[in-house]
Amino acid sequence: MRYVYLFHEGNAGMKELLGGKGANLAEMTNLGLPVPPGLIVTTDACRDYYRDGKRLPEGLDEEVARNLRALEEETGKRFGDPHQPLLLSVRSGAVFSMPGMMDTVLNLGLNPATFRALAENTGNEWFACDTYRRFIQMFADVVMEIPKDKFEALLQERKDAQGVRLDQELSLDSLHAVIADSKALYLQETGRPFPDDVHEQLMLSIEAVFRSWNNHRAVVYRDLNKIDHHLGTAVNIQSMVFGNMGDDSGSGVAFTRNPSTGESKLYGEYLINAQGEDVVAGVRTPRPIEELAHDMPDIYRQFEGIARKLEAHYRDMQDIELTVERGKLFILQTRNGKRTAQAALKIAHDMVLEGLIDKKDALLRIDPEHLAHLLHRQIDRSAQPVILATGLAASPGAAFGSVVFDADEAEHLGRIGSKVILVRMETTPDDIHGIVQAQGILTSRGGMTSHAAVVTRGMGKPCVCGCEALHVDYENECFTVGDVVVKKGDLLSIDGTAGTVILGAVPLKDPELSDEYQAVLGWADEVRTLSVRANADTPEDAEKARGFGAEGIGLTRTEHMFMAQERLPYVQKMILARTTEERLSALLPLRIMQENDFYSILKAMRGLPVCIRLLDPPLHEFLPSLEKLLVETTELRVRGDNPQLLEEKEALLAQVAKLHEANPMMGHRGCRLGITYPEVYEMQMHAVFNAAARLTRDGYKVLPEIEIPLTISKAEMEFLKEKCDRIARECMEAHRVTFTYLCGSMIELPRAALLAGEIAEAAEFFSFGTNDLTQTCFGFSRDDAEGKFLPAYIHQKILKDNPFAVLDRAGVGRLMRIAVEEGRKVRPGLMIGICGEHGGDPGSVEFCHQIGLDLVSCSPYRIPIARLAAAQAALKYPRPAETHA
Ligand code: ADP
Ligand code: MG
Ligand code: MG
Repeated sequence: MRYVYLFHEGNAGMKELLGGKGANLAEMTNLGLPVPPGLIVTTDACRDYYRDGKRLPEGLDEEVARNLRALEEETGKRFGDPHQPLLLSVRSGAVFSMPGMMDTVLNLGLNPATFRALAENTGNEWFACDTYRRFIQMFADVVMEIPKDKFEALLQERKDAQGVRLDQELSLDSLHAVIADSKALYLQETGRPFPDDVHEQLMLSIEAVFRSWNNHRAVVYRDLNKIDHHLGTAVNIQSMVFGNMGDDSGSGVAFTRNPSTGESKLYGEYLINAQGEDVVAGVRTPRPIEELAHDMPDIYRQFEGIARKLEAHYRDMQDIELTVERGKLFILQTRNGKRTAQAALKIAHDMVLEGLIDKKDALLRIDPEHLAHLLHRQIDRSAQPVILATGLAASPGAAFGSVVFDADEAEHLGRIGSKVILVRMETTPDDIHGIVQAQGILTSRGGMTSHAAVVTRGMGKPCVCGCEALHVDYENECFTVGDVVVKKGDLLSIDGTAGTVILGAVPLKDPELSDEYQAVLGWADEVRTLSVRANADTPEDAEKARGFGAEGIGLTRTEHMFMAQERLPYVQKMILARTTEERLSALLPLRIMQENDFYSILKAMRGLPVCIRLLDPPLHEFLPSLEKLLVETTELRVRGDNPQLLEEKEALLAQVAKLHEANPMMGHRGCRLGITYPEVYEMQMHAVFNAAARLTRDGYKVLPEIEIPLTISKAEMEFLKEKCDRIARECMEAHRVTFTYLCGSMIELPRAALLAGEIAEAAEFFSFGTNDLTQTCFGFSRDDAEGKFLPAYIHQKILKDNPFAVLDRAGVGRLMRIAVEEGRKVRPGLMIGICGEHGGDPGSVEFCHQIGLDLVSCSPYRIPIARLAAAQAALKYPRPAETHA
């Protein structure tokens, strides 16, 4: 097995073996860019390390040493040599980039002898000292897991003693003292002296990088981003270049385009006389990259050229690390840059117009889930919020919540459903669990490439960082801005789009969608074959859905209309009626209200199809709970002061008890109600068709579809379909109009899927209710499953995903395939859709496309996601045009 590759032996196509960083370093080397030479230990080595119980593979040390010779030849320096020492960086590099999640050791190869050589050769003892003390600290931190803070404290002591603030101001004596202190600390912590053998340093560091693959924050990051835990990391061993050699040196990070807005302009930061870690550490505030054009005009021009070249080469926005050593530019890393949803969209759009990529590339490049971020809310400026402080607009969107200062606390509160804003001086990868649960992040330090900024942008979570007016006091759990004190628990709003911080909870509003957004979704519409509809129960939702590009309504739940406060008494009267007459008289006002609802919804959709599901849930959902009534009647009986109320409550109790079901999910609900209480479904049909007839008469186009829930047989469907046709006819005749309508069946029980052929004889369309179909296919009741045992199933990897969130292709999907095939055998061209929550999940949309559905329906906010997911599915799995209606 070969474990080591030199940079020039690899290329960008070898990411799996060499990791993303290594593969790109190799690619850049072959492009002739100024990359310090290096070698890569493969991910195979890391996997074998774990396979063999955390032991470095046999022979790895010799293979590394052999390849180091090539490095030595190229640089003219030798590893561990007391005259011309080669120093190395040891860097992690996973297949998928996990910025800042794993460890790096810089300046490796220093010991007293090589240190002296470094000082002499550079004629810069200060630099050599600074480099040595950094190495000891990083090695101790990464390899021996001695907290960095302890070393930072030693450094701080010397600064205090000397009365200075910045590292750069330290005297040589102080630096020498820091080195001695650091070594002493190392001995004290580990019981062993700091290793002077450079090969030992190297092998221990390689192993530490392998170990860092499984550190807590890396594991959390992978879980969050669904990255396989078995991939392992590569290790890049690269000759060092030094940004800390003086004012003609420096380090920086830059994106080829703005990662927040997508604007096509170099965007980044740098520090003079610093190593790369200083730029992101937040100790010194870095300067915007444009200023490099003044500080080092030649370097800036060169860098601009390289940035353009890399972007054109990779045909994507790049995130580049650079270091300048004594006036010479080096490139240390490039990767496709992380970006906000807004930037992703704009960059993909602009690159199509620039001819860099085609529309297909653009569509496949945008993560559908990211589109949801763009629908994030913004501060409603009409509320004229008073701004408390301003920082950097690090990640767009607005949020409010109670202030907390601790990541654990943010996590805890977030999990139980509280909205919190996590306020920190700066965040580190160890805060990631708190960031996940917070509504937004506010930091007082750090730039646009600081940890908080990068991580929140990836999550689409609002963030304001580097807000220097803020004085955070962890001890007293508060922060101050001037005389204003904000304590833990106080309400605070942040606006990551503007970079502002506002006291209290400011009203938020829906965003406006950019031209790029509309254009890209327009391209998606050109290629997708699935039609996208919305689930909407109100005219307002219907309007919103049309705005997002819905081509109709795939599900209107009529029970929501029954739940409204002012309607519930009629619904209850209807349910509690003892005779048909009583029931009919309660139904009349409901019919009028429902008719008006349908009138508005059908009107809002202007001739687009509107699929209305007749009453579905068990009736007791509209009644007070049995337990509550028992308590009330008992109390009334004991008090004995209101016999009339007692009588009423007792009657109610008797009726509720009668309706009580052992398992309501599988009980008296859906079209079973339409069979046992025919007046209810008749009333609803009347309301729909009367509304449609009135609209037609008033000159509007309508296309209602009546959907029967929970059907199991052709006979059931026929029985209700006949009613539907009769009532439609009556309404049309009464208004002397005609309109088209359909009456179809929900397929949400295994029997319906299996007997879809028969049902299709009576049903004019199918709509999969994948929530119930999942419950009944698995035999899981959703609430119980998600609350009790599903997490264990997922944790133990017995199930890969929650089947209620990600459609179970193997089981539920199989039933769907059967239904599609059987249904269309009987009724060629039968329109089939899905209206469960799955309709807005990109993976499930892909599956629906693959099995030949005509449409998906989802909540209005997920429509853009479904449109893009449908386009991606069509690009990945083209299907013949005749299969869609
Ligand atoms: P991460 O994946 O966390 O970005 P890197 O491996 O890129 O970690 O290393 C972190 C920083 O260390 C880089 O940004 C760079 O500034 C510095 N660095 C890495 N390798 C070298 C090198 N060969 N010479 C100088 N600095 C380096
Ligand atoms: Mg890096
Ligand atoms: Mg259902």
